[in-house]
Amino acid sequence: MRRLRQLAVIPVTELAGVGPKKAEGLAVFGITSVLDLVLHYPRRYLDRTNQARIADLAIGEEGMVLGRVRSVQARRTRNRRSLVEVDVTDGSGYLRCTFFNQGWRANQLKAGTNAVFFGRLEEFQGRRRMTNPVVDLVGDRTGRIVAVYPQSDKAGLTTWELGSWVEEALERAGALADPVPAPVLQRYGLVDRSTALHAIHLPASADDHRAARRRLVFDELLRIQVVLVRRKRDLERRAVGIPHDVAGGLVERFHERLPFPLTGAQRRTIAEIGDDLAAPVPMHRLLQGDVGAGKTLVALSALLVAVQGGHQGAFMAPTEVLAEQHHASIRSLLEGLTLAAEGDNLFGERPVRVEILTSRTTPSERSRLARALASGEIDVVVGTHALIQERVAFRSLGVAVIDEQHRFGVEQRAALRDKGPAVPDVLVMTATPIPRTAAMTVYGDLDVSVLDELPPGRTPVTTRWARGGLEEAEAWACVAAEVAAGHQAYVVCPLIEESDKLEARSAQETYDHLSTGELSGLRLGLLHGRLGAKDKELVMDAFRAGTIDVLVATTVIEVGVDVAKATVMVVIDADRFGLAQLHQLRGRVGRSSASSWCYLLADETSVAPDGQARLEALERTSDGFELAEVDLGLRGEGTLMGAHQKGRSDLRLASLRRDQAWVGRAREAAFELVDSEEGLAAHPLLVDEVALLLGADDGGDADERAERTEFLFKS
Ligand code: ADP
Ligand code: MG
Repeated sequence: MRRLRQLAVIPVTELAGVGPKKAEGLAVFGITSVLDLVLHYPRRYLDRTNQARIADLAIGEEGMVLGRVRSVQARRTRNRRSLVEVDVTDGSGYLRCTFFNQGWRANQLKAGTNAVFFGRLEEFQGRRRMTNPVVDLVGDRTGRIVAVYPQSDKAGLTTWELGSWVEEALERAGALADPVPAPVLQRYGLVDRSTALHAIHLPASADDHRAARRRLVFDELLRIQVVLVRRKRDLERRAVGIPHDVAGGLVERFHERLPFPLTGAQRRTIAEIGDDLAAPVPMHRLLQGDVGAGKTLVALSALLVAVQGGHQGAFMAPTEVLAEQHHASIRSLLEGLTLAAEGDNLFGERPVRVEILTSRTTPSERSRLARALASGEIDVVVGTHALIQERVAFRSLGVAVIDEQHRFGVEQRAALRDKGPAVPDVLVMTATPIPRTAAMTVYGDLDVSVLDELPPGRTPVTTRWARGGLEEAEAWACVAAEVAAGHQAYVVCPLIEESDKLEARSAQETYDHLSTGELSGLRLGLLHGRLGAKDKELVMDAFRAGTIDVLVATTVIEVGVDVAKATVMVVIDADRFGLAQLHQLRGRVGRSSASSWCYLLADETSVAPDGQARLEALERTSDGFELAEVDLGLRGEGTLMGAHQKGRSDLRLASLRRDQAWVGRAREAAFELVDSEEGLAAHPLLVDEVALLLGADDGGDADERAERTEFLFKS
């Protein structure tokens, strides 16, 4: 029995009818081998049982008719396009089929030929007509259901040529070895590989096709899960972690001193993390929680577990501004918290020592911090991701928290491993709401905790899509009223993805316009990506201190900015933003018990249907997970693992929405195979396919995950 790899080395030119010219056409789709060809799945299927009679088909309706060609004329139009007109009858009526730029149809559709024509029925000069219908020569291909291949006309190939080559390829390939063990197939009611590949191209019935699709979807998802689960187990096996002391009392005292009780979700996730920390295997966990869910507290609890056992903690943010903000809030949360001092004073207590280290730290301060980290005088250090990449040595790094990451991968993890005698426990935090199934795919090598409950006392943000001038006026009036009431506001400027220079200029224009127009008399500040770090900090400080009423800003405020007095946000040209991004932005308001508003400005008449759906979804709900599902549905699916090999995306059939249940099953199966006594060694065929179709390496680097995440959550 053959393996897929064997098909990968056979060039398409081996097939009858594929010469150099046709091979070029196939290459347009990235199809060069027989494997590429059989993995080029049909886009849709024609079901011949749905055949109509010419006379019964209504004008404007799409349909399929079987008829006999009565006459053919080929000529050129005035602008030298080739035109073939074919007159067809099926006994019930006459139909004229018009083909532009398909001169070869004159030879294909000779008088007397029987063929199926699929297209939209038009009326032209009193005649029934189809323009460029799909043609199936009856007798060429049998079967009630006929596959139609994607975009085949573009490459100068017909769907029927593709179909016949695939058929030949499958026939010559013979039986294919199955990489999935029979008991697994049985449990999920899946057909074998050969049957599935055959039936996806040449289904005998709709049921047949369904079964084939199910099997191939499972295969796609299983390969991804095998990669992720294997990576997870490898990490766990190789690394020796720290079995932390979770009952040391420091964390408890920290919680008791908080001015508010923990939410149920916070208690639950802290316990989940605690179990990981107590275990000798290094933790590798994702903490997912919507904006404002209180992730910082959970993270800090984990860091304090390390501290109470005599280890250190590191907290890493993606930007300096955020690092500074976290440093400030961690300091205030820890104020007055003490732990037993070591050394001469037996009953001495000392405060928890927290420091910050960024690229703005002066050289002398830097070397002081380096010494203090190496000697263990610092308990918790806050910094940017650079913290772990630089040559900073810890006495004993016990827990590392990485906030808002999209770019933390294998390399950075390796860097962490060098930070101490044992591998630290890692907690990754994200506010990106990731649907469960997608999380299993994107972050499948991490364990996941979900903070799915907001602290009490938050009032949901009232969101309005301002569809026209009247509603826009209402938005500005709301800003003025809130400022009059002692609150503050954000105005988010139009997103210009191509150039942050243009974006900065447009932000400046918005600022100028508003300060002399709608918001004249208010104290406005301007913040955009082109400002220097110092200027940014000045503006942010002024806004935090309340000496600025309205912050006019680009999406630099998207992540983490925390000013509780801000109660209104106005987003200009909101339809240009992605759904996830708008949700993140909206999270900047509604941070206190005061009522908050978010106005999304976008002229109804010029918003595309997708944009409308996004804005309506935001008006309807503030649940990040629900929005993420909407987003996934709007944008469809594509490559998750990154395109390792051109033309071989990893999700051809599977849809994370439609096939949610199968994501879970594939993951379950992957764990079973990886964790079995012999492990993956017992399944060399599967391992081989994973390498062949997903790339030989594990493909887990940072950029790639970023790419995957961006694909899923940016518009
Ligand atoms: P996230 O990082 O998840 O967006 P933060 O950790 O910044 O959220 O928390 C947002 C705000 O909620 C902070 O001001 C924090 O002090 C507050 N907070 C956190 N947990 C609670 C709680 N259990 N009850 C009340 N307020 C809380
Ligand atoms: Mg945060």
